[in-house]
Amino acid sequence: MMNMSFAAENYPTSGVRAMFERARAYNDAINLVLGEPGPTTPDAIIKTAVDGLLAKKTKYTPNLGILPLREAISRKMIRENHVYFNPEDEIIVTTGATEALMLTMLTLINPGDEVIIPDPAWPDYLGQVLMSHATPVFAKLHEENQFKMTADVIRPLLTNKTKLIVLNSPANPTGAMLDHSDLAEIAKMIEERGIYAISDEPYERLVYDDNRHVSLASFEGMKNYVITINSFSKTYAMTGWRMGYACTNAFMIEKMVKLHENITSCLSEAFQLAGAYALDFGDESIKIMRNGYLENRNLLVDALNSMNGFRCHTPPATFYAFPNIKGLNLNSQAAANLILDKCHVVTSPGGAFGESGEGFIRICFATSKENLAEAVMRMKNYFG
Ligand code: PLP
Repeated sequence: MMNMSFAAENYPTSGVRAMFERARAYNDAINLVLGEPGPTTPDAIIKTAVDGLLAKKTKYTPNLGILPLREAISRKMIRENHVYFNPEDEIIVTTGATEALMLTMLTLINPGDEVIIPDPAWPDYLGQVLMSHATPVFAKLHEENQFKMTADVIRPLLTNKTKLIVLNSPANPTGAMLDHSDLAEIAKMIEERGIYAISDEPYERLVYDDNRHVSLASFEGMKNYVITINSFSKTYAMTGWRMGYACTNAFMIEKMVKLHENITSCLSEAFQLAGAYALDFGDESIKIMRNGYLENRNLLVDALNSMNGFRCHTPPATFYAFPNIKGLNLNSQAAANLILDKCHVVTSPGGAFGESGEGFIRICFATSKENLAEAVMRMKNYFG
């Protein structure tokens, strides 16, 4: 067998998927492991796609995505994120946020460039940095600072090789959020240093209490440096549709679309029509799903804080709890295995999200109330 590529040989395997596979041994396992909404896509969005298919919207589309969808994204960015992107040339529709992230890295990065990524973080950032032949630099995030990736955390990591910073607020797996002043400081630093930033914002609508999502791109001058990435997956329970988008300056988009043409070319037109419908008319369904997640969050965090060995801060956003399990005196993999074997509840070891995730586990609470209550009862019975 000939040698495989460096990226393929060294690509990290997903600790989240590994738990999912391990759970197959138990047919009554409750899945709180994958980062996926429990509800299915609202019917009106599905109907728009079905109508599109029946109307024979079955051909290739422009590589940037259909204009009505780009216009809907532009309206949404003004309405919710307070920043204007021209639908003609500052927006590209992608196969999930995952492709938008990869495209951005391939567009910006040369071998040897340094990319600062959060630790703990959604593991694909690291995989994508490695596939781009860049050097990952880990911004270690700590429970004491609510896992916030602030300018103070980033600044000491900057070198003359730093090309890109990846920000993810609200964050997977910790639920951490950056507020207006945190982002203002980061915007200033980015402009002073002339480096690029990805702002990956797929959890922007899953924000609770008095917290408010702020987009880095909304700060003066940031369009030159920031690529805002978003997704339909979490907001509208559309993970399987594989729809996302990136917004930035026309210069970047012009380069990204060339690579996109060679990777996936475009998405189904019927799905794109459904995406435009979701952005324009999907608000009510977001509110319903979010209220359900909020009740689940409160139930889960209270229960975890009453269990021996667990301590859980209240996540301001997302559908993840990230409890500290150091009181169990086990590493995060052993703790997740124990919870699976004894309670038949599937969670993710924090170490799967990076070294700084060690000592924690991630629990996705975007499931039904009944499932979550049953999971919590099983854990309480075992851990006391
Ligand atoms: N970014 C973050 C932080 C995520 O958690 C995920 C999915 O879990 C994605 C991006 C990918 O989203 P998509 O389904 O749109 O590819």
